[in-house]
Amino acid sequence: MPIYRAPVDEVVFLLTDVFNVARYDNLQGFADATPDLTLAILREAAKLCEQVIQPLNRSGDQEGCARRDDGSVTAPQGFKEAYRRYADGGWMGISAPPEYGGQGLPGTLTVAVQEFMNSANMAFAMYPGLAQGACATILIHGTAEQKERYLPRMIEGRWTGTMNLTEAHCGTDLGLLRSKAVKQADGSFRITGTKIFISAGEHDLAENIVHLVLARIEGAPAGIRGVSLFLVPKILLDPDGSLGARNAVSCGALEDKMGIHGNATCVMNYDGATGWLMGAENRGINAMFTMMNEARLGVGVQGLALSEVAYQNAATYAKDRLQGRAPTGAKFPDQPADPLVVHPDVRRMLMTMRAFNEAARALVMWTALQADVAHRAPDPASRQAADDHMALLTPVIKGVLTDRGFANTVLAQQIYGGHGYIAEHGMEQFVRDARIAMLYEGANGIQALDLVGRKLAQDNGRALQAFFGEVQDYIKQHGDAAMKPYVDPLAAALGDLQQATAWLMRNAPAHPDDAGAGATDYMHLMGLVVLGYMWCRIVEAAMARLAVDETAARMRGKLVTGRFFVERMLPEAAVHLARIRLGAANVMELPAEAF
Ligand SMILES: Cc1cc2nc3c(=O)[nH]c(=O)nc-3n(C[C@H](O)[C@H](O)[C@H](O)COP(=O)(O)OP(=O)(O)OC[C@H]3O[C@@H](n4cnc5c(N)ncnc54)[C@H](O)[C@@H]3O)c2cc1C
Repeated sequence: MPIYRAPVDEVVFLLTDVFNVARYDNLQGFADATPDLTLAILREAAKLCEQVIQPLNRSGDQEGCARRDDGSVTAPQGFKEAYRRYADGGWMGISAPPEYGGQGLPGTLTVAVQEFMNSANMAFAMYPGLAQGACATILIHGTAEQKERYLPRMIEGRWTGTMNLTEAHCGTDLGLLRSKAVKQADGSFRITGTKIFISAGEHDLAENIVHLVLARIEGAPAGIRGVSLFLVPKILLDPDGSLGARNAVSCGALEDKMGIHGNATCVMNYDGATGWLMGAENRGINAMFTMMNEARLGVGVQGLALSEVAYQNAATYAKDRLQGRAPTGAKFPDQPADPLVVHPDVRRMLMTMRAFNEAARALVMWTALQADVAHRAPDPASRQAADDHMALLTPVIKGVLTDRGFANTVLAQQIYGGHGYIAEHGMEQFVRDARIAMLYEGANGIQALDLVGRKLAQDNGRALQAFFGEVQDYIKQHGDAAMKPYVDPLAAALGDLQQATAWLMRNAPAHPDDAGAGATDYMHLMGLVVLGYMWCRIVEAAMARLAVDETAARMRGKLVTGRFFVERMLPEAAVHLARIRLGAANVMELPAEAF
């Protein structure tokens, strides 16, 4: 059976040593999150994930969800009880506003807990994860009445939420969507249409499900500028807020899919269901972007989470499994063979995963802190800078962390040899579960296009220039002998990224296919630079700890792992640059009929 230990100490190290979370104490809720409280919360979350949620991961995968003839859906055995413990523990609302029943603590803590939850059981974690995304959207775009009626129950965990965008003929190109909304005399709308692939669309974990649905108001313009967002509860509320009649929305079928079997992926039928507009008419996509940005960070976290749990199991296996002898001579001569961990090629795989995980977690924590600044800082300049950071790095986090996260689950499986292919060890489940994160919330190719096509030039490149400036300043200020081995490779990779940016700026306006052909390389190039920057900051903090405690072995490990990243992984930047410079020529040369 796979194991999992939530990396509480790693999160604490990042918050305190690397990002000095105390400097954010002026933000609402941060001063309340004292170091002791933060540690207590993370430890409790770890306990819940390790002892309650993770044990349901394999059984949930094997059993899957079931739909009855009446359209009701049951989650795998044990999910309902585990969800109740999650909700009763107040986990849904740790960062939600107190006026709606939340605890108002930093959103960063919720993100840290999301990593633990997804490592423990991604299919389970998606039920509350989608509800948190829906809450964030209602908070920003809902009317006062909508917030009052829906948020307290959702934050309590009694009701969950979903996002309904996709239809059979449109996923990426939502401008094609056909679901229809007809205005009623009382101001509500009748929603009709079919949505597919809706995560947590129907289940038995909560008393009600609040669907956020994209549809086109009768007579609205064609395309994305005619799409609006609606709040459509599964069960309608009586005037006093209690549960009333069943709404005309139902689960028509469950998708039979590759992984995340414990999460109900539903075809949802809206048959004249009653809904209410959220945000302005025909501006649904703007409102949905709120949800998507939260969700994209969350999906990036899934990539990290699966990479982490796969790594933990592969590392344990590599120390247990005896095969062959070390190239330099037997390390355990009293045993019939040495453990896998002595072999350099096995080490290469373990180090690749570890070097990614630690930097990816830093990137996630850094960005989660920026999200808190964007929502809670008193001054507009700080909020703007944090918003810029989010806009620029969200597609990188989503695309790079899920591509590499999936690749790492495959590496971990490789360490198990043929046993990795056998269900009993759980490694093939990690591979299957991790795969979806590259596809949903905008396939990774679309993340790359969002980065290159929209984010680079947005506001005259303000966000990009701020990012370049920050990394350049860091490099300049950390040229001492100790940091040089880390910042020199970072400077080289940053140079590659800047050259790639200049090349795209010069060529893409006249040759848009050049941007399309190089977008994925560009996204990964930026991912390498930002992860390399994270490693420099981790190493700097580790050196500071070692200066006061030479025995801190975990910190020495960071210096080695950081070297592995900057020396062996960061040079991939040059390959990405070379490919970007090729433009689209040999990509687009063959005629479509040749495929
Ligand atoms: C298990 C699961 C759960 C899901 N959960 C939800 C959910 O809760 N709510 C919801 O609304 N949706 C959900 N989805 C849908 C998911 O978000 C979409 O499948 C995804 O956005 C891609 O859309 P598509 O499948 O229609 O692919 P398409 O849009 O057909 O794209 C196919 C491929 O073509 C590429 N492509 C498309 N257009 C372009 C372009 N202009 N330029 C370059 N490349 C392009 C894409 O990158 C992709 O690789 C889920 C899907 C799955 C499988």
